[in-house]
Amino acid sequence: MEIKVPTADFITTATGPEGWPKTLLPEFAFVGRSNVGKSSLINALTRRRKLVRVSNTPGRTRALNFFEVHVLDRKHEHKSMLCDLPGYGFAKVSKAEKAQWQGIIEGYLTGRDGLRAVVQLIDAEVGPSEQDTQMMEFLRASNRPVIIAATKLDRLNKSKRIPALRSHAVALRLPETDVLGVSSTEELGMDELWRKLFALERG
Ligand code: GDP
Repeated sequence: MEIKVPTADFITTATGPEGWPKTLLPEFAFVGRSNVGKSSLINALTRRRKLVRVSNTPGRTRALNFFEVHVLDRKHEHKSMLCDLPGYGFAKVSKAEKAQWQGIIEGYLTGRDGLRAVVQLIDAEVGPSEQDTQMMEFLRASNRPVIIAATKLDRLNKSKRIPALRSHAVALRLPETDVLGVSSTEELGMDELWRKLFALERG
């Protein structure tokens, strides 16, 4: 991996706009169903083992978590914010909780000025679930640039990876180049994902 991450810091947790950090830095958000590998991906991207807690028990957090990172790509320094959006797809959430989650996400997607792109995670092996597709439609409607990170790519045989990524792109009605395979455990796709984000940092 060529890209280095000299600093990565947790900044704050917020549920509403009043809690969003005031910053002029470009921001990238991460969203996906719970257990898709979002915490692991943010940790792998930032080269930190525990920046975001990786838990096997579905987290109950309904808040946004913000991080500030300084990233070095050869000689270029990129400073940005990362926002970890609460995971979706719990079987047991009540309608009220779901509505609250939607309110938080919608408020953030429509109201966050510095947001430059949303990384939506899907499972590379399983492909987009119905909820992932709904999320994608929601993001499309918000007019925010979206990158799909297909996680746990290591679980697919090498010969199956490109065909799987292609078919996920078709299912989501996206160009193939918008679907990137990643593996946090094998650190695949990290530099590529950073560079896709940097390409969008100016908005
Ligand atoms: P989150 O709920 O979306 O934050 O998901 P986590 O990052 O907590 O990961 C959920 C589970 O998937 C954990 O058991 C991780 O060890 C596993 N996992 C995450 N990333 C990868 C990966 O790249 N490859 C494999 N094989 N497992 C992964």
